[in-house]
Amino acid sequence: MTRPDLIAIGAYNSWDIEAMEAAYTLHHLPAIDALPRLPEALRGQVRAVAYQGHHAFGGAEMDLVPALGLIANFGVGYDAIDVEAATARGVKVTNTPGVLNDDVADLAVALLLAQGRRIVQGSDWVRSGTWAKKGEMPLNRKISGGRVGILGLGRIGREIANRLAGFKMEIHYFARTDRDITGWTFHADPVSLARAVDYLIVALVGGPATKGLVSAEVIRALGREGVIVNISRGTVIDEPALLDALENRRIAGAALDVFVSEPNIDPRFLALENVVLQPHQGSGTVATRMAMGELQRKNVAAFLAGRELPTPVN
Ligand code: NAP
Repeated sequence: MTRPDLIAIGAYNSWDIEAMEAAYTLHHLPAIDALPRLPEALRGQVRAVAYQGHHAFGGAEMDLVPALGLIANFGVGYDAIDVEAATARGVKVTNTPGVLNDDVADLAVALLLAQGRRIVQGSDWVRSGTWAKKGEMPLNRKISGGRVGILGLGRIGREIANRLAGFKMEIHYFARTDRDITGWTFHADPVSLARAVDYLIVALVGGPATKGLVSAEVIRALGREGVIVNISRGTVIDEPALLDALENRRIAGAALDVFVSEPNIDPRFLALENVVLQPHQGSGTVATRMAMGELQRKNVAAFLAGRELPTPVN
């Protein structure tokens, strides 16, 4: 029996490539811009694409694969994929929710602590010999018991809130509907949330619907002692407004895993002392990346066998 073709786009780990090669005739491309270079006859027969990456996968790219029926995204966030264009073409989109919640929530907490307790500066203090020369580093900021706002109480946001409840923090959240959670305070809009807390953790979906939701007004409402942590998508924050506020000390700091232009982030961030920067590594552990690959392949296998998709988006 001939094995079905599969186009895999992105920087996969060796175990993913091996697993896909074991089941399919694999056509691996490093990035989506290589798609037009695949022979037309091959593109004409492929029904599934395993996608990994943050470059736009729009209608024009879908049209290069005319028999396409599935885009299986590696990642829970599918904002790079034009789902409307996919639906219009009868293409199903799947993602990998759930399996990465713990890691992304862990990183959010780590970022919050790193920013407040100045972990990176503390490490530099030791490595540079400043400790021996100057003694104690400047005092930093207590996190436990503070007031935290979770912007987006979805799967990841909920895990973050659960962890921070363990830090005896007062939990506030914004969602589109009141979850009625005893002891946690619901806010119907992001400005009200920001006004009520010192730490604002962004855990929303990306994409056009949430673009700039953390606006200049939200940042202003957070105030001078405020800290923003973002593990969702760079687009959710008005980045120039955030940079202005950080540069002018209108908020205390930020800790960011995601940016508007990755990996070439706005160089203004690099000059700031009050930020912690990470290279979009929220789900970046071996165990979780393995689980994400497995779930992506389960979706591909289900689609090609005509079975119900485990984690459909549209
Ligand atoms: P989720 O369970 O779908 O939660 C998404 C949240 O976004 C929910 O709180 C939802 O609000 C809110 N939301 C959706 N559309 C909205 C809109 N139009 N306006 C306002 N709020 C809206 O997703 P998740 O699994 O927690 O993942 C959240 C995001 O984290 C992903 O989409 C991805 O971008 C990001 N992420 C980042 C990393 C990383 O490496 N840093 C890794 C994984 C995921 P309601 O509760 O009101 O529905």
